[in-house]
Amino acid sequence: MPVSKRRASCASDFSPSPPPPRSKKTKPASAIADFSAILTGDTEDDVALLPARTHAILYHKPLLLSRPQDVASLLAWFERVSDSRAMPWRAPFLDPAHHDPDKLKEAQKKRAYQVWISEIMLQQTRVETVKSYWLAWMAKWPSIHMLAAAPEEEVLAAWRGLGYYSRATRIHTAAKQVVADPELQGSLPQTPPELEKVPGIGAYTAGAISSIVFGQAVPILDGNVARVLSRQLGLYANPKAKATTDVLWEAARVVVEKAQEVKQGGATPGQWNQALMELGSTLCTPLKPACNECPIRASCRAHAEATLPASKGGVEDMEDLCKLCEPFPNDIKPEPAAKSEPKSKSGKKMRQATLSFGTFPSTEAKETARGSGDEALHAHVCKFPMKLSKKTIRTESCLVCIIRRPAGEYLLEQRPASGLLASMWQFPSLTLSTTEAGSTPAPPTPPTLAQIDDFAASLLGSKAAAQAHQRIGTIEHVFSHLHLTMHVYCLGLAKDVDLPAAKRKKEEGKARNFGSSLGDTATRRWADAAAVEAETMGTGMRNCWIAYQQQATTPAQAKTKPDKRKA
Ligand code: SF4
Repeated sequence: MPVSKRRASCASDFSPSPPPPRSKKTKPASAIADFSAILTGDTEDDVALLPARTHAILYHKPLLLSRPQDVASLLAWFERVSDSRAMPWRAPFLDPAHHDPDKLKEAQKKRAYQVWISEIMLQQTRVETVKSYWLAWMAKWPSIHMLAAAPEEEVLAAWRGLGYYSRATRIHTAAKQVVADPELQGSLPQTPPELEKVPGIGAYTAGAISSIVFGQAVPILDGNVARVLSRQLGLYANPKAKATTDVLWEAARVVVEKAQEVKQGGATPGQWNQALMELGSTLCTPLKPACNECPIRASCRAHAEATLPASKGGVEDMEDLCKLCEPFPNDIKPEPAAKSEPKSKSGKKMRQATLSFGTFPSTEAKETARGSGDEALHAHVCKFPMKLSKKTIRTESCLVCIIRRPAGEYLLEQRPASGLLASMWQFPSLTLSTTEAGSTPAPPTPPTLAQIDDFAASLLGSKAAAQAHQRIGTIEHVFSHLHLTMHVYCLGLAKDVDLPAAKRKKEEGKARNFGSSLGDTATRRWADAAAVEAETMGTGMRNCWIAYQQQATTPAQAKTKPDKRKA
């Protein structure tokens, strides 16, 4: 799926992860213990003032816990706006108090299936795009039993355009498993620990199903919720660190429990979780948060920091200093730093100290940097959550060969069952060059005719002489981790050629590169244009086919563009 079509953050980014290797960025294990400990303590009233934002760990205790009126306010806001984006998978909570137990079980079974599919689709794609996919999916397979009985090819075809096809495969595997399980009999489990045993269901999806369908007071954490909570808590911590994720999950847990306690208008934990997500995707957006319309503005640390003048904040006991937050980037030009860095009582360096710690910029500098009104507010609030500098992604240049027999058939091959675009069909492709992430990519060089002929011969045998090479064009495709440049060529064969018998059936591990030459391990077949059209392909490969068809419909033009380069 192209990066541009992905949501700002993928939900799975926030799944609890194994501890990262120790590095300067790794927080001490005590960070989450410190955070859990403050949840029972008094709430910190002081605001962490700019420029230093000096604060204790207690500062991150969610103010929502001591402001039930704000919890009620967010739930009431969600009640008003929940239908405004017309999401077909949203439906009233199935309240056990108002349903016959037998009918309730069947209704929950269906609702859990619907929520599950919607959440997996939404992890990759915008709401507006998902609507039509979800409706088509439910029309085709209205129950988990029907999905379990569907051929895999059909499931992959229904997923076409959503990207990350392995998720469709996992949904299908999970459906078969849940239907075959003698205890579950097609019903998804109700609790996150049990749900997470189902293939493809992580902590986020488990929390969503459990809270939305079964009304359990369990947390969820996706990109939207993480942004809202980071701002609510004033947490400026490495988003990739396990300690940060753990703290956000813990914060999400305590606030959903608080929401259950408040129960504004009979609202359920699922409604609270959806309210947080809705707030993150409509008001508390990454670049232009509408704080003036926000129902939980009064409990927002980031908002409070932005509206108070810069001053020297204080923590009475430096031993209490927050160990989670990183030094805060100040827009204010620092005055010369003190020669020695400030130290705590124990003599350790203070984590939150910045160049400007303990110094005070001139009034003029403050006004220049912080601007006024919304601009200054956005500039401050949008620093949360902390951003890491973007790493460059891996690049790959590959040859894509559309090989055509005189009878009008095209050679297709199937990718391995695991790895990039698992089990998808493609035109034979050969990796020409790669550059690892972080290195300077070499300019993509087109293949030579000798490379193209050698590749075709490796697929079809030496007798498969090409009558014509036609250069179709160069197509760029960006995955989340890979920038791919595809040099697309059509080879018209002079005579029909049969495929050599496959020498090995066994697949050799995951295909890391897009254009891995699959050698004689791949399943290959000839397919006419209609069969190519109907085949399950990735978006990039589909674009190669579209580009070829566009040239094929203008043969006069195509004939004028044979590739006459020397091998
Ligand atoms: S006040 Fe602004 S930054 Fe804080 S939660 Fe609301 S929209 Fe987000």
